[in-house]
Amino acid sequence: MATVETVGGPIDAGDLGTTLVHEHLRLHSSPVDVEFPHLYDEDAVYRRATEAASGLVAQGVKTICDPSCMYHGRDIGFVKRVADETGLQVVPCTGIYTYSQLPPYFQHRDEDHMAEVFAHDVEVGIQGTEIKAAFLKCAVDEPGLTDDVEKVLRAAARASQRTGRPMMVHSHPRTRRGLEIMGVLDEEGVDPGRVQIAHTGDTDDLDYIEELLARGPFIGMDRYGTEIFLPDDRRDVTLLTLLERGHADRMFISADACAEFDWFPPELIEQMAPNWKSTYIFDGVVPRLREAGMTDDQLEQMTVTNVKVWLGS
Ligand SMILES: [Zn+2]
Repeated sequence: MATVETVGGPIDAGDLGTTLVHEHLRLHSSPVDVEFPHLYDEDAVYRRATEAASGLVAQGVKTICDPSCMYHGRDIGFVKRVADETGLQVVPCTGIYTYSQLPPYFQHRDEDHMAEVFAHDVEVGIQGTEIKAAFLKCAVDEPGLTDDVEKVLRAAARASQRTGRPMMVHSHPRTRRGLEIMGVLDEEGVDPGRVQIAHTGDTDDLDYIEELLARGPFIGMDRYGTEIFLPDDRRDVTLLTLLERGHADRMFISADACAEFDWFPPELIEQMAPNWKSTYIFDGVVPRLREAGMTDDQLEQMTVTNVKVWLGS
């Protein structure tokens, strides 16, 4: 049985259990949090993260993959404390989340240096700990493959191949970025079966999704509750159609929710996306999809089996 790294150490892939593949325990606008710590109430931040994690455990969710990396204020010690206190298994990553630019450190060094930096987190440990990254994370959003974004994508691809760890790439489906991402990953020789194109569920353009699936990656139907990107009823119809077409073995369900999130004032988040919580998947989405015909086998495929396949090496 393959093993998977969690913040609590390696586990058998068979022990992942029900997993939400894209949930953040804490997402801060780094380096704002480091430079101006007075803006944050650390006790409240910790409380929100532990409450979210405990809520998931109470629902029977055993594991989350937390794709927080550079520019998300990644703090692996914080994540470990939350996991230890709540019993939630958390699968950590390494990578860089940028839509356009890198800091000078990486601008003036090449892809292979960056790939080595990522491989360090996989092979040695994250931020001075022995906690090892289980997957590579990067992003290609609306601005597309700027020089710096392409550098991160290629570096993550090289680190993935060197370490055998899979990739999760944030995408922007309205601009069909998934196809562009797969083009670069093909050039780099990455096995598409180890790639997850996140946020594919932000579109109901089935032609685009089918074209992307034909390239071989997993897709994230992973932003339930963010109706500003696509209303949930349209997410449901898209997901159910893809299930009917036999794609249960390619999809993940998640919310991409952040227990702690500083990008907007809290009252604005509550107003814009009241359902956007990790627990919404099993409180709201799953019962609705079941009622509309999703089977238990399909749910298990998307929340257990696919995770094992994607993460297992
Ligand atoms: Zn995310």
